[in-house]
Amino acid sequence: MKEEFLGIWADVLTLEQARDRVRAMLGEGRPHFVASVNPEICLAAGRNRELRQALQQADLGIPDGIGIVLASRLRGGALRRRVTGIDLLQALAEMAASEGKSVYLFGAAAGVAAAAAANLTARFPGLKVAGTHHGYLPPEKEGEVAAIIAQSGADLVFVGLGSPRQELFVVRHGAATGARVLMVVGGAFDVLSGRLRRAPLLFQKLGLEWLFRLWQQPRRLLRCLALPRFLPLVLLARKK
Ligand code: UDP
Repeated sequence: MKEEFLGIWADVLTLEQARDRVRAMLGEGRPHFVASVNPEICLAAGRNRELRQALQQADLGIPDGIGIVLASRLRGGALRRRVTGIDLLQALAEMAASEGKSVYLFGAAAGVAAAAAANLTARFPGLKVAGTHHGYLPPEKEGEVAAIIAQSGADLVFVGLGSPRQELFVVRHGAATGARVLMVVGGAFDVLSGRLRRAPLLFQKLGLEWLFRLWQQPRRLLRCLALPRFLPLVLLARKK
């Protein structure tokens, strides 16, 4: 089941179901795109046609954020829990380790993806890391990174370039990577590398992870203001 938010679709599923969907994708002979759906991205897609068209090509849209769950509840939808990108990334790393699939981490500042990969292999012994690459390069070099990923033979690529760059990378270069699944992960490598701390569990459970992230990175304030704009738009759209 899926729900639509301002023209963007999010899947109604749990973390385990999302992981199982990706497991199935890994067995299919074509690239798949796992997107993250949150209020900010839905609003951005309204302004950016390329981003909107990219998101419409997603095979799976995880309900990544309390704002999506809140909007669904307020309009009587079926979403009850969010599935965050960082949780799904870790669940997929665990699955990849046990099933012998290799992962590639592309994005974030120099050394961050490599540090995140080292922490993941420490947590999930046997995890095959096909490679890592930083995300600070001119857009015209992205094709070269896709070729490097193809050479690495990675099955699953995590792309953490920030939005909309990461979504555009997946639709433009995903096929050239030869990977079965490409998932966008925003700033997850910063957290997994230990550069940024994730919100304590209590904040996560109360749906207040955004408040913790705002405290750590005050420049996110503008992004948090997406929710009060997003909610009325979603609720009004339904009444049309
Ligand atoms: N980033 C990158 N290349 C760029 C711009 C950003 O690799 O040209 C990385 C940045 O270092 C960070 C991630 O993209 O790791 C974006 O993080 P953000 O907090 O914006 O994402 P969110 O988790 O909020 O989606």
